Amino acid sequence: MDLRTKIRNIKDFPKEGINFKDITTVLKDKDAFKECIDQIADQLKDKEIDIIVGPEARGFLIGAPLAYKLGAGFVPVRKPGKLPAETISAEYELEYGTDKLEIHKDAIKPGQKVVVVDDLLATGGTVKSTVSLIEELGGEVVAISFFIELEFLKGREALEGYEVNSIVKF
Ligand code: 5GP
Repeated sequence: MDLRTKIRNIKDFPKEGINFKDITTVLKDKDAFKECIDQIADQLKDKEIDIIVGPEARGFLIGAPLAYKLGAGFVPVRKPGKLPAETISAEYELEYGTDKLEIHKDAIKPGQKVVVVDDLLATGGTVKSTVSLIEELGGEVVAISFFIELEFLKGREALEGYEVNSIVKF
């Protein structure tokens, strides 16, 4: 199945000039959703993985079913103030200003093998700060997997030194 044709383009969302890749059209299609998770899982099949980490919110939608399929645990990374127990946080750059992500302090044990998963790689800022949280806790990032990669934004360069996988490239 060509998953590319299942992704909906929304012009000028969330603001003018941005051509947003809407994955809800993939998620609602039972065959496409399964194919998406199966293809990401297939790229990771030879790895030993303890934990899948997904950033809020679309990282949950891909990361949780992937963790279930691979027999790994799932750990959420969230915007400030959302996680109930003790957290550590990392700041990252946006186009204008900065934002912050948090992870539970006890979510990952030193030496655990971790795969980071998100729906889409743009500049790489979100996942880079997610990686820094995992490494601060002593986790080892063995791969970073995306459903979609926007190659023209060169996010892969921001993640140099890590194995970066994606299913559909634009
Ligand atoms: P980055 O941090 O790589 O610049 O941006 C990636 C993050 O922004 C991801 O968490 C992703 O969910 C979100 N994002 C940015 N652009 C898009 C888009 O066109 N479609 C979707 N689905 N997510 C996007």
